[in-house]
Amino acid sequence: MFKNQSRRRFVISLTSLASSTFVLAACGEPTATTAVSSTATVAATKAVTSGAISGLAMAQSKDGWSYEGSTGIEKWGDLKPEYSVCKMGQNQSPIDIPDGAKALTEGLKLKYNPSPIKIENKGYTIELAYEKGSTLEISGKTFDLLQFHFHTPSEHKLSGKVAAMEMHLVHKAADGTLAVVGVLLEEGADNSFLAKFWDKIPAKVGEAEVEGKLNVMEALPPLASGFYTYGGSLTTPPCSEGVMWNLMKQPVSVSKAQVDKFLSIIGKNARPVQPLNGRTISSK
Ligand SMILES: [Zn+2]
Repeated sequence: MFKNQSRRRFVISLTSLASSTFVLAACGEPTATTAVSSTATVAATKAVTSGAISGLAMAQSKDGWSYEGSTGIEKWGDLKPEYSVCKMGQNQSPIDIPDGAKALTEGLKLKYNPSPIKIENKGYTIELAYEKGSTLEISGKTFDLLQFHFHTPSEHKLSGKVAAMEMHLVHKAADGTLAVVGVLLEEGADNSFLAKFWDKIPAKVGEAEVEGKLNVMEALPPLASGFYTYGGSLTTPPCSEGVMWNLMKQPVSVSKAQVDKFLSIIGKNARPVQPLNGRTISSK
């Protein structure tokens, strides 16, 4: 979005803050600088004065897809031939974990080491690349942790309930199979793991270094609290299937300020839940 930002934004002068001009990113089709009605000015003033310029950014990928408008979620399957599984696939993610689904407490072996971290604003998410050497083992198969990233609100639901955010830890096996560990973040206290790098998020598409090392193990709830596992897909184009999903049952906390910061930079970036199509959760 940043390349085209000048075509996509409103410039709003706030009468109550006469000396200041605020630039707000606006979702939707490219638009010329727009005269703002008094109603919009009042609404914008409210948002600015309450410190909540959140949800105004629009998540967008450089590959040409986004979460809203003409390249939004409903259009993904038509944007490129290789994205067709987004609309044709029968094993798509995320899903709503149904009432009564069984959570496993064993079978997920995580070996995460502290890693130097690079934090990247990708336009459609904030992603942190992980150094090689941290692994997830499922049924004797080893997956390397590649990166973790965030969605807001959560993509998966538990019995219809959505959380404030969701973190995805993406792993890949030597044969190319992907496995993701998902962690739900519910609004509450500050998340101390996020606090270590949240102020380093680049405001625009690009990378920044985080000083020292981070261990993403600190971001997870106790493994013994259980997890749901099912076969699904990537939740962004190309929506490839064959992804082994492991969603932690117990959420961790995130503060409203932390969620608002993400929203102000990335915007909402959650794909809606997809049909189960007879898939089972946590069957062994
Ligand atoms: Zn994700």
